[in-house]
Amino acid sequence: MKKIFKNIAASSLFSRLTEMLYTGIGSIICFHRVFPDSESHADLGLQNAHMTPDTFAGLMDILIEKNYTFLSMDEVHELLIKRRQIRKVVAVTFDDGYKDTFEYALPVLQERNIPVAVYVMTGDQNEILIPWLILLMDVIYQHSVISFTIENNVSQFRTDTSYGKKTAINSILDLIFSSEKNQIAHLRKIIHHISPGSKPPQNILLPYDKLQHYNKNPLVTIGAHGIDHSNLKALNKPDVEKQFNDSKKCLEKVLGSPVVHFAYPYGGREFAGTREFQLAKEAGYLTAVTTRYGHIFPGHAEFLMCLPRISIGPAVCGDSQLFQFLMNGCIAMMKNKGKRFITA
Ligand SMILES: [Zn+2]
Repeated sequence: MKKIFKNIAASSLFSRLTEMLYTGIGSIICFHRVFPDSESHADLGLQNAHMTPDTFAGLMDILIEKNYTFLSMDEVHELLIKRRQIRKVVAVTFDDGYKDTFEYALPVLQERNIPVAVYVMTGDQNEILIPWLILLMDVIYQHSVISFTIENNVSQFRTDTSYGKKTAINSILDLIFSSEKNQIAHLRKIIHHISPGSKPPQNILLPYDKLQHYNKNPLVTIGAHGIDHSNLKALNKPDVEKQFNDSKKCLEKVLGSPVVHFAYPYGGREFAGTREFQLAKEAGYLTAVTTRYGHIFPGHAEFLMCLPRISIGPAVCGDSQLFQFLMNGCIAMMKNKGKRFITA
């Protein structure tokens, strides 16, 4: 079945059709981690979720070969508000501000003169959820049974199968992401129960006060990604405003230039909605991106606070055909059940 689908999708008529109908002006594509295999750890799970610099370079070369026009997020904004008629544009974005984005992805982009937006957090490194979420995945990856107690409720999960691990992770994430206050304290507590003394990976994010150097690079746009990667939708309004305003102010102070682009942490419908779009606008951002899956259409000029993206995960590694299906609208067509214009 998969093969039949691949054959249909690969037919040039079909891909031309999906490209015409589903890709609009182009795409904002989203990456996370790029580092060599030599830096991954055999005993760890999620910390290995990456693509190599060669794979990343290969994907960029496909876009160059297919005559995409690379744009910065400033240019995406301008193109939308001026309603310029243009097709096949692509904006490359990286979330979270991992050190490896600057160490391994940036040189690949620089060699090819490709602009990039990197969305970073401004919280204290120990108070950001990302390293703790990575630790949670790794701890579950390493255990066949886990148990923890939250507010006198004992939870236990068998995690000896991938289904069991997934169920445990989803239940824990639901618990953490539904709390209005201090999501990271909840997560720490749970991890401490499962694996006392385990520590999150250190120094994987570039501290935001080290970004001035990269901000001077004309290819690099630094955008905000909140303070600590909390689920904004669960927070009360003043705390959400703080996430938008403080991260903007902190970055502007360090960079000495305006910060006008935002990426919602996680970015799915359960993490950012109408209230967050409105508050992002009020905080003074010109664009804000989600991880809703979709391409960019001229009509997004009216929806600048919820621009969809195409996430390029490690699953794409080494499968250039899958990457092309992502870019030519084929996957968007299927994922959105035929809906072309994706906003909230
Ligand atoms: Zn993120």
